[in-house]
Amino acid sequence: MSFQSLGLSDALLKAVSKKGYTTPSPIQEKAIPPILEGKDVLASAQTGTGKTAGFTLPMLQLLTKTPAQRRRPIRALVLTPTRELAAQVYDNVKEYSAFLDMKSTVIFGGVNQNPQVRTLRQGVDILIATPGRLLDLINQGELSLSKIEFLVLDEADRMLDMGFVRDIKKVISLVPKNRQTLLFSATFSKEIKALASSMLKNPILVEA
Ligand code: AMP
Repeated sequence: MSFQSLGLSDALLKAVSKKGYTTPSPIQEKAIPPILEGKDVLASAQTGTGKTAGFTLPMLQLLTKTPAQRRRPIRALVLTPTRELAAQVYDNVKEYSAFLDMKSTVIFGGVNQNPQVRTLRQGVDILIATPGRLLDLINQGELSLSKIEFLVLDEADRMLDMGFVRDIKKVISLVPKNRQTLLFSATFSKEIKALASSMLKNPILVEA
């Protein structure tokens, strides 16, 4: 199996080879095709499996199908439990979109919000966020989720462990119903299953 045979565009293949990857990891092999088909995906994947590229690469490919709009409303939202993970995902998104016309940024709590707000005002296609800061800035009218096409929950089990369930439900209530949703989790508790069934439509189940 090669990245090429997964149906990724030349710009993404170039970014992947720049990273030095030669073959897709198991989670990438299994998750990328259904995501490219537009399906919702429920994936069980631990850290270190290559899950970030597993959702970022197909998400970027689908987003580039439509040209960037001048005002760049946020079209994709990746929610993560911690600022460290948010920063990591952002680094990955930047690297994989190096050869695309795609803007991204990251927001998280515990730091001054002003630089984050300035970047958001310039328009971004992809936002990586922790739930608290995201809802803060929404409440301040600094960002809107009304144009979201893609919603990704990364490490969903940790988000629930950290008590973010109400925040996640709030976010779900603010994104369009007509969207593609991906949920990645290391474990599948009753709570994760309930969350998945409340936010995913006919999901494809993927295990690394
Ligand atoms: P993740 O599970 O997304 O945090 O990725 C874990 C590590 O694996 C990161 O350092 C990635 O850069 C790396 N990685 C992801 N996909 C591949 C791949 N197909 N081949 C080699 N390394 C990879």
